Amino acid sequence: SEVLLRASDVTKHYPLRADGFSRHRRVLRAVDGVSLEVRGGETLGIVGESGCGKSTLGRCLVRLTELTGGRVEFDGQDISTLSTRRLRPVRPGMQLVFQDPQASLNPRRRAGDIVAEPLLVHRYGDAAAVRRRVAELFDVVGLAAAHLDRYPHEFSGGQRQRIGIARALATNPKLIVADEPVSALDVSIQAQVLNLFADLQEEFALTYVFIAHDLGVVRHVSDRIAVMYLGEIVELGETEALYKEPAHPYTQALLSAVPDIDDGADAPRRERIVLTGEVPNPVDKPTGCPFRTRCPYARERCALERPQLTVTASGRRTACHFPLID
Ligand code: SF4
Ligand code: MG
Repeated sequence: SEVLLRASDVTKHYPLRADGFSRHRRVLRAVDGVSLEVRGGETLGIVGESGCGKSTLGRCLVRLTELTGGRVEFDGQDISTLSTRRLRPVRPGMQLVFQDPQASLNPRRRAGDIVAEPLLVHRYGDAAAVRRRVAELFDVVGLAAAHLDRYPHEFSGGQRQRIGIARALATNPKLIVADEPVSALDVSIQAQVLNLFADLQEEFALTYVFIAHDLGVVRHVSDRIAVMYLGEIVELGETEALYKEPAHPYTQALLSAVPDIDDGADAPRRERIVLTGEVPNPVDKPTGCPFRTRCPYARERCALERPQLTVTASGRRTACHFPLID
């Protein structure tokens, strides 16, 4: 299907205040040259350890934050340079669901008013029409319309995330960027909310960018997966193929930490590697390959040359001089 969202060489750099010892300006490279595309109706998972820039990338994709460089096209339009005014009619089409419903819902506003907010901003209709739409949205996400006037603290964690999802759905978006939408929830509740995401995708032909640090969660919701490390995408490919045969040593390391329960007894055993050392500070990224300080396969070339994301013979995209598959 068609590409709905295309990111080209997106960067988000934060200049840091110069300290007394160094004269050159230091820069935090939160997102550092990311290119990807999301096709209409698919779910693209974005995985990586905390601090890898995935949340910042998510915000860049829906322009909740300004890009430092690169561009984002949504529905055929370059949204990275649009003025606030010209961005306004585009906004309803792309929404963000936040990680922590506790923090992202105003505790002093009633649930119904929270869901109504985007409708009011985009002049949906009169008060009665808004109220009807909010009740409908409650129903869609599995909340009782009778609870419209309750406050966020009167709901459970899972219900609060449903409120966040209803708010995101209010404007009939095509694209939802979900930033770790189940990480703050009890494991027993996670599956229910993931199922809701799946049902809604089917019902409303939604396209998702699904951000998570948990590879198990992402596997079950994503058609394709992008793996991030230090602000860069190091691997991108079809979910099952990537899980079976990772091309990038970092993906292999992430998968080593996940038991392959779904693979069956006669599945080939994945080679396990264990990550040593800390993730380097994105202010002081290693030269060459950003992963080389932790990579068990690093060679001389890895320090000298930054690997670009390139397509392997099997169609995988990976940024490694010595990929694990052809
Ligand atoms: Fe490891 Fe070198 Fe590949 Fe980087 S380029 S992941 S250091 S083998
Ligand atoms: Mg995050």
